[in-house]
Amino acid sequence: MDEKIKSLKIKNSRELSSFLRFESIKMSHNSKAAHLASSLSCIDIMSVLFFSILNFSNRNKKNINRDRFILSKGHAATALYGALYYKGIITKNEILNYTKKGSLLEEHPNPKLHGVEAATGSLGHGLSISCGVALGAKLKNKKFKTYVLLSDGECNEGSVWESCLFANANNLDNLIAIIDYNKWQATGKTQDILKLGSLTEKFKSFGWNTYEINGHDHKEILQKLKLAKSNKNNPSVIIANTTKGKGISFMENDNNWHYRSPSYEELLKAKKELKIL
Ligand SMILES: [Mg+2]
Repeated sequence: MDEKIKSLKIKNSRELSSFLRFESIKMSHNSKAAHLASSLSCIDIMSVLFFSILNFSNRNKKNINRDRFILSKGHAATALYGALYYKGIITKNEILNYTKKGSLLEEHPNPKLHGVEAATGSLGHGLSISCGVALGAKLKNKKFKTYVLLSDGECNEGSVWESCLFANANNLDNLIAIIDYNKWQATGKTQDILKLGSLTEKFKSFGWNTYEINGHDHKEILQKLKLAKSNKNNPSVIIANTTKGKGISFMENDNNWHYRSPSYEELLKAKKELKIL
């Protein structure tokens, strides 16, 4: 872990959320890359996962028994890069070179990086990849869990629902999916583009253990992740209701932030809101 992170002394997942939000905002500002608001919506989930749940660190990053995390919504890559930076797996220098020529930190995750288990960003594939990983663990009698984070928009893809059938048919109780249900996708509202109806009822009908939570409430996220990982039957899904652009007042629910990046003045304003010193 680098000196900067050590000196921050991040004591809990909420502090980690502020750190990850500001890292994503800085990466977006420096690179002028898109999808900042999509990262901000899932950062509380990522923080709890990386602070409290995942058996994954710099020490066991190559160990076959490590927990797997797959970011199916690959466009939120900056949230993952921040988490890998916090874990000491990627360096400050790599963060500063995000999207620059020759950098492995691309706008969508590159599996050449430790901690990136699959190339994602072509939406709708992460759940099926995770089914394969979870089935592989069962066949090899490995005890690790596979966690996958999806967007609500990618639930438009048929491959998601094929995976739901597959996971239940193979009793993948070692698979935990989380949906970042921020009610937006790319240029519009999920409800207007292709309405999803009740995700809870849909997953239930596919035989999954199903939980619906506030995806920014760390206590609730932690409680349901613990419950999901202890299930002995069937795959589990946590439907996390979230706000796109969460944490920065002038970005929340303003879909312009799907593509735009903050100016220097906006970066300073965000830093103040996050109470970053
Ligand atoms: Mg969405």
